[in-house]
This record gives sequence, structure tokens and C-alpha cells, in this order.
Amino acid sequence: MRKLVLTGIRAMEIVEAPQPTPGPGEVLLRVESVGVCGSDVHYWKHGRIGDQLVRYPFAVGHEMAGTVVAQGEGVERPLVGQRVAVEPAISCGECDQCRKGRAHTCRRLKFLGCPGQVEGCLSDFIVMPAKCCFPVPEGFSPDLAMLVEPLSIGLYAVRRAEPSAGARVAVLGAGPIGCSVLLMAKTAGAHVWVSDKVPERVQLAKALGADDAGTPEELEQAGPFDVAIECCGEQEALDQAVRVLGPGGRLAVVGIPAEDRVSFHAHEVRRKEIDILAIRRQNECVEPALRMVVEGEIDPSAMVTHRFPLERAQEAFELASEYRDGVLKAAIHLA
Ligand SMILES: [Zn+2]
Ligand SMILES: [Zn+2]
Repeated sequence: MRKLVLTGIRAMEIVEAPQPTPGPGEVLLRVESVGVCGSDVHYWKHGRIGDQLVRYPFAVGHEMAGTVVAQGEGVERPLVGQRVAVEPAISCGECDQCRKGRAHTCRRLKFLGCPGQVEGCLSDFIVMPAKCCFPVPEGFSPDLAMLVEPLSIGLYAVRRAEPSAGARVAVLGAGPIGCSVLLMAKTAGAHVWVSDKVPERVQLAKALGADDAGTPEELEQAGPFDVAIECCGEQEALDQAVRVLGPGGRLAVVGIPAEDRVSFHAHEVRRKEIDILAIRRQNECVEPALRMVVEGEIDPSAMVTHRFPLERAQEAFELASEYRDGVLKAAIHLA
């Protein structure tokens, strides 16, 4: 089978690799669509995120949809032939965190395409635990199924930030995660203001149902907000979030900063008594996010703006890295 591996900074190659076999409790998936995530681009561009260092060659990719082609022993549901959305986090099910219902902070977590954990899904086939696979209805497109992963992060962030109905929510950054947060905050009945520096992203946020959208300068004038959800990983956005929140406001930090440390204005945070929440990916939100798409509660289809075959993956990464051509989510199609 083909497998796309990173081979150096800004370098990738398609290599031949043996097709894996599913073990007990696992399924073999024919990979159909893989979303290019900001973190994948980061590994491609910098060879690391913080202390997570890529050892070449390494396959990235964790947002995926595929069809089950074989299943190992002990998989109770018949899954062969079924298209599934995939939860890329493989938890142990046994540690203190898993037992507390916090599988996303599992002590032995293995996340697809995370250096030092497991290889990513940019290959024709991968093996995953059956418990990570969520069947989608007949006719549901691979791209929509792939979007369920970023959507689950949006849902989790909104569940953690708990905006009440009618709350004024600022979403800073209209990338795929910011747009996912927007869609989920709208279902919670919030009034959502989305900011981004990229004009195409502002337009897309409006198309996806933002009550207001504009530049960070425009957001500055639009406060105060009850909840701010930071989705760009920038110090200046964190600072702005604190400024535009009203007293008693809540700040959820979803974006991943390039630096190891970020800071908050101590006195402003204290005087306003701002609650600051760190969001770690998502927990138990894949299934409900999928259900919301299936039932038509949200329509994220406009988020996939570009599609490439595996041979042109480099182009997809370049596009995503430079925010060119109005790209939001680039999907790589393998089947
Ligand atoms: Zn991702
Ligand atoms: Zn665990």
C-alpha cells in the first residue's frame, strides 16, 4: 500500500509499506479522506510541536474517514463494508484518567500521527480499535465524516465554556476549529461574533451562521462578551480575549501556541475575575458531533474548500500553511 511520510523539513514522500492486519478488537480501514490539520502542517514545516519531535520518516494525519474492510477477533458489531468517522485518540481504558471518564488525558494515550505515539493515517490502509470507529449513514460523504473530528473539538470547547442561551460569545480565529466552535456555539443558542485576519475566513464564518464576523480590530469595538473562545494560538489573541470579556467572563483556550509559554494580564484577569479554561482536544464528543451533522442540526460542508489526491499532498500542505486561495480545510483523497 501507499504511505505518505514526512522525510525532513517541508519534505514528504510516498513510499510502499506493508498493509497492516487487525488484531483483537481492531478493524482494518480503507482510508478515504484525510483532513490537513494545523498540527500536521506544523510537523511538516518545523519537524516538531514543542517537545514533540518528528523522527523521520513519519506519517502524520489524524482527521479521517474510511471504510472497514476487515475486522479482528472480538469485534462484536459487524463493521465490514461500513464507512466510519474515526476518533484518532487511542486510550488504554485502564489508567486513572480513563477510569475517571477522561480518556483524552489517558496516561498511555496514543494519538494518530503524533510523533512517538502512532503513525498517522495518510496511507491506503490503517488499523484502529473498533471502539474508535463511528458508523455513518449510507451515502454520507467521506469529507463530511472526516470533519467530525474537528467538529468534536468545537463541541467539547463549547460544552466546557458553557455559554448560556443568548450569551455573547467571541470566537477568535476562524480556522477549521474556530468554525467548528462557531457551529456548536450557535446550536447552544449563543450570539456568536467571529474574528479573523483573513478576509475569506471572515466571509466563511458569516456563511456558516456567525451573527457577526470581522477583523480583530472590529472585534475590539464589539465587546463586552460573556465567553471568549481563542482558536488561533496567538498571544495577541489571548490578550484581546481578556480585553473584550466583561467581568465574570470565561476564556476557553483552544488554540495551540507556537511558544512554550503564553501570558495573561494579571490585574485585568483578576479585576474582571475571568475564568480561564484549557481545552485538550475533546472527550466523548465524536458521537454527538456526528449525530448533529447526520440530523442536520449543523451543516459544516462548506468547511472543506479544497481536495487533492495523495500524489498532490505537498500542495495541500503548502496551501494550508500559507492560508492561500481561501483554504479552510484541505482534504486529501486516497480512495
Ligand atoms: Zn486536528
Ligand atoms: Zn488510559
